[in-house]
Amino acid sequence: MKILVINAGSSSLKYQLFDMENETVLAKGLCERIGLDGRVKQSVPGRPDFEAERAMADHSDAIQAVTLLLTSPETGVIKSMDEISAVGHRVVHGGEMFNSSVLIDDSVIAAIEECVPLAPLHNPPNLVGIDACRQRLGDVPQVAVFDTAFHQTMPEKAFMYALPYEYYENFKIRRYGFHGTSHLYVSRKAAELLGRPIEKLKIITCHMGNGTSIAAVKNGKSVDTSMGFTPLEGVPMGTRSGSIDPAIIEFLSARCGMDIGEITTVMNRKSGVLGISGVSSDFRDLHAAADGGNRRAQLALDMFAYAIIKTIGGYAAAMGGCDALVFTAGIGENNARMRQWVAGDLGYMGLNLDSARNAVRGETFISTADSPGKIMVIPTDEELVIARDCAAIVGGNTR
Ligand code: ADP
Repeated sequence: MKILVINAGSSSLKYQLFDMENETVLAKGLCERIGLDGRVKQSVPGRPDFEAERAMADHSDAIQAVTLLLTSPETGVIKSMDEISAVGHRVVHGGEMFNSSVLIDDSVIAAIEECVPLAPLHNPPNLVGIDACRQRLGDVPQVAVFDTAFHQTMPEKAFMYALPYEYYENFKIRRYGFHGTSHLYVSRKAAELLGRPIEKLKIITCHMGNGTSIAAVKNGKSVDTSMGFTPLEGVPMGTRSGSIDPAIIEFLSARCGMDIGEITTVMNRKSGVLGISGVSSDFRDLHAAADGGNRRAQLALDMFAYAIIKTIGGYAAAMGGCDALVFTAGIGENNARMRQWVAGDLGYMGLNLDSARNAVRGETFISTADSPGKIMVIPTDEELVIARDCAAIVGGNTR
């Protein structure tokens, strides 16, 4: 069974074609600058990467470009799009309506549209991607996989904000959480690597990339997570502030004459480690600057680590312990120094980091052999989760 996974952004569209017989990636690529000059890139295992300029007026043109890339004699890996059993779409916000992946029909599209006010930057391009596939790929079943779905198991006490209750009833203001497919994938993989049933484990997963979120996964279910109503809440990130005292917004508005929209943009795009350091949102640049004596770059790194340490402590308290701590995504998978700072002093909760093992790359245990709780690095694979959900929904290989 072949599954195409689509992740549509406002001017880009990423895709991966899976063969689910052995869960291998046949091809993956990116259409970017859609509506502008247009570029496509595709990589196929064992072949040189392909890159070309392709004018694409909209996402429908992009799907047409993907079709050509996947089927043309020059770049293709399949003969026809008819070989594809289903298309899986990453959809950022499913609100409270979706706690798992679903087959897309008109009512699902209407429900995703209803969630647009909750994710105005993300859900509209996701919908455009779905629409483009419906136009171009005929009757192939399409599945929506939501970033928020995994966190729908959070108890009320974790997802409610202490605002007047009617704001939740009328406007659905609550914590939703994001990166759900990633937290789900790495927590299940952690249980697999531990050789223990996930139903009996307390796991803390740290997805540390440009966007960073931490999740508490108890008995296989998300019981708390650091991102909230939007992906702005939580720990400081590349360019996002994470949680701040909300009263700062009114103060800033009065002091600097910015309106709320402008302040929100600052909190999303000019804050986080970029805002603190004034150097970069990229952790490689921050380490280089800090090593060269840049005090604010070091402060940004320290603030990032400190916020994560506090979150881990909080989640261990909430779950009554932690059997495994998992690092994933760009920083979690690659940045051994940050892992050392975050996990180097967690012996108090039974997590003992092994500094030598921490230097190893790839999927691995990085705790000492006798550590009661385990610390692990697990590369995330959100596309595989989407492909698996698709396969399960349309039948066939449900691994
Ligand atoms: P996104 O949220 O955009 O998917 P990623 O998961 O790709 O982000 O993470 C991007 C972050 O990962 C950047 O801050 C980058 O510096 C960091 N990163 C990637 N590779 C390395 C590396 N080898 N060493 C240190 N940091 C890295």
